[in-house]
Amino acid sequence: MSEIDKKHKGTSSVWAGELGVYDQGAITTPIFNSVTFGYEDMDEWFDVALGKKPGHIYSRNTNPTVRPLEEKIMHMDGGEDATSFSTGMAAISNTLFTFLHPNDRVVAIKDTYGGSNKIFIEFLPQMNVDVQMCDTTDFDQIEAEVKKGCKLLYLETPTNPTLKIVDIKRLAKVAHDQGAIVVVDNTFATPINQRPIELGADIVVYSATKFLNGHSDVMGGLAVGKKDLIQQIFHYREITGATLHPWSAYMILRGMKTLELRIQRQNENAMKVAEYLSKHEKVDQVFYPGLETHLNHNIAKEQMDGFGGMLSFSLKGGFDSVKKLLPQLKFAHKAASLGSVGTLVGPPKTTSHVELTAEERANAGIPESLIRYSAGIENSEDLISDLENGLANC
Ligand SMILES: *Cc1c(COP(=O)(O)O)cnc(C)c1O
Repeated sequence: MSEIDKKHKGTSSVWAGELGVYDQGAITTPIFNSVTFGYEDMDEWFDVALGKKPGHIYSRNTNPTVRPLEEKIMHMDGGEDATSFSTGMAAISNTLFTFLHPNDRVVAIKDTYGGSNKIFIEFLPQMNVDVQMCDTTDFDQIEAEVKKGCKLLYLETPTNPTLKIVDIKRLAKVAHDQGAIVVVDNTFATPINQRPIELGADIVVYSATKFLNGHSDVMGGLAVGKKDLIQQIFHYREITGATLHPWSAYMILRGMKTLELRIQRQNENAMKVAEYLSKHEKVDQVFYPGLETHLNHNIAKEQMDGFGGMLSFSLKGGFDSVKKLLPQLKFAHKAASLGSVGTLVGPPKTTSHVELTAEERANAGIPESLIRYSAGIENSEDLISDLENGLANC
């Protein structure tokens, strides 16, 4: 364990991976917009190329702006190594395709992110991988399926859009008894609110597009965890080529310096908005793991340091009320995505879960009038008065 690992997350988010002094005394990580890296000393070049000496050869593989970001997430999550990708879906698909081969079996929860879900229902079966999807909060069923044998257990918590909570510690233990690899998508929580490796995960994957970058201006993905596993994912990504651009890496490094400040504020804002909405007469259900009424509030309390900036709620007036409410909100982008400094809202019916039929959404426990709310860092009083005005007229 290095010095930085003993520090608080607010310190490592600023300093981890960026403790060095750069060329000309620069104090921020420079953007190395160079495809390739040249050497005058042939022995040095060949040693770097053969992995005998640290250094960079070609930016599809490694780059000096990208590496500090990988080191930052590695220290923040308590992993042994990390690698990066052009998007969150690249991180997830490369991780799954690295380890899952014909005749392997994978167990996953049903409530994974839409893109991840497509990999489980469409692409992996094409490769002759046996996919078992389980009810997200039926831990007995997940355990039973894992005990039948599997190569990999795939979890995500909190989930999208109904904020279900999965017991990582309990399920990781059963998976390890079977020799399975445990992968957790930690995009919603970030290492500030939840560190799956401490709970038993082998690999944590992220869409860095969301809270980690935090400003809705670049895309990226990360995978962090056990060194030998990350090395295998890195090897797959080196060849398949879903590389993170150095400019995007710089933007995510910059965004992550304020991660703790942003997440603390978003945790507070989401809690206040959830409490306000749960008392409102026009609101039907509120889904937020911080509410005591939440199905898995106790597990959330146990495994999370904060309940996150994401919540969702349904309206008694149905989808017509959703259509009336959303345009009235002044301080909320009506857009897909989440985890930005500005509040973002959208109905899963026409965004993340548009491909499902009404019946499939009902089976997934997603009300037709559900609104997903990604709390930004604004002042919560203004967010609540914005909702108050909108709800009065819908
Ligand atoms: C957005 C998201 C992804 C996919 O990330 P991209 O950067 O859009 O590819 C994966 N998982 C979760 C939980 C997400 O919210």
